Amino acid sequence: MMQDNFQSVVEARENIRERLPVLNGTRTVAIREALDQVLAEDILSPIDVPSHVNSAMDGYAIRSADLSTQATVTLQLIATAYAGKPLGLSVPPNTCVKIMTGAVVPPDCDTVVVQESTTSQDINGVTTITFNANVVKPGENVRLKGEDLAMGQAALKKGKILRPADLGLMASLGVAEVKIRRNLRVAFFSTGDELRSLGQTLDEGCIYDSNRYTLYGMLKRLRFVDVIDMGVVKDSPESLEAAMLEAADQADVILTSGGVSVGEADFTKQVMAKVGQVEFWKIAMRPGRPMAFGTVEKPRGQGSAVLFGLPGNPVAVMVTFYAFVRDALHFMVGAESKPLPTIKAKLEQEARKKPGRTEYQRVRLYLQDSEWIASLTGAQGSGILRSMSESDGLMVMHHDQGTVAVGGFVDVLPFEGLL
Ligand code: AMP
Ligand code: MG
Repeated sequence: MMQDNFQSVVEARENIRERLPVLNGTRTVAIREALDQVLAEDILSPIDVPSHVNSAMDGYAIRSADLSTQATVTLQLIATAYAGKPLGLSVPPNTCVKIMTGAVVPPDCDTVVVQESTTSQDINGVTTITFNANVVKPGENVRLKGEDLAMGQAALKKGKILRPADLGLMASLGVAEVKIRRNLRVAFFSTGDELRSLGQTLDEGCIYDSNRYTLYGMLKRLRFVDVIDMGVVKDSPESLEAAMLEAADQADVILTSGGVSVGEADFTKQVMAKVGQVEFWKIAMRPGRPMAFGTVEKPRGQGSAVLFGLPGNPVAVMVTFYAFVRDALHFMVGAESKPLPTIKAKLEQEARKKPGRTEYQRVRLYLQDSEWIASLTGAQGSGILRSMSESDGLMVMHHDQGTVAVGGFVDVLPFEGLL
């Protein structure tokens, strides 16, 4: 099913990338505010981590020179070191210090023997501990200064989308504020005379607009996006043009749904050609074949906004969002963008396909004998939102892939965390 004027999903993704601007603009926020935002600067560690030599275990800090060749070592206990309270005393040969996890290891010591490997005796107020030297390795259970991160080393790289561990890491370095990318403004509207908004009466032949809600949800998952919902726009050149200009004025990116399929495309094309540079692409994929992509001039002359004219079918909107838009938004905001992780799952039914296009089918996932099984969710029509809602992920059948038999392995993009 290889058509000459169709581009593959991978080609379309590259063609989009080549045409996208990366936006400038940063703001400085307290680190909690930076969760899920895009880091705009490298964070160099202002300190050594850990900042002092410390114990990794509860036990006894010893001098490894005291580990004689004899099997049994006995040392006199002279003090106890607690976390946050450096002892400031010297530890002579044949003595040791009881030490808690995280406490500073006295400079004379270089090894910590874990509590469980020792026995202790108390004779006339003198405590000694005894252990088998063979079970102790010199240097063990001691965390060295700067071992995790040396001062000046990059702790986080710009472009990183900050996760909970990153907030913790910044806090551990004493970093209270951080520079992040300004939010990307994304405006979206639905097109179609048949669409009704929630709260309106459903006239005969009309349907509720659902795309604005799935788009809202998918965009909201990206915390670096400001969402601008522009409602439903009628299928008339005047309304469409006004909506395009308004969206371009307010936003960095415009997402529309509907009006790009054959029959409607001519009229949408005409409006888009008037307000910007927009191409109509046929992509070798299912669902999601027709898509418009380009730019719309900002009416007040400050550059242009990027436009994605997504198909109208509810499932196609979601598929094209994850196939193209999500990656593009990451790129525009200067975020590192890795491909979405997929899992290998075993197919429960045969999935028929001809090489030459990428297909996305909705599947349920379940674990059986430690293996993920993917089961197709019945009717796969691209208007059927219910099966999207009932599924756990999208099975991605790649461009060159053919039919996969029962028990064959497929790539599945899990929705967990995504939808
Ligand atoms: P279109 O691309 O405008 O021809 O739309 C394709 C199909 O998707 C038609 O059946 C439309 O009614 C439906 N559709 C378009 N936009 C929406 C929307 N916002 N919500 C729900 N269905 C839609
Ligand atoms: Mg339409």
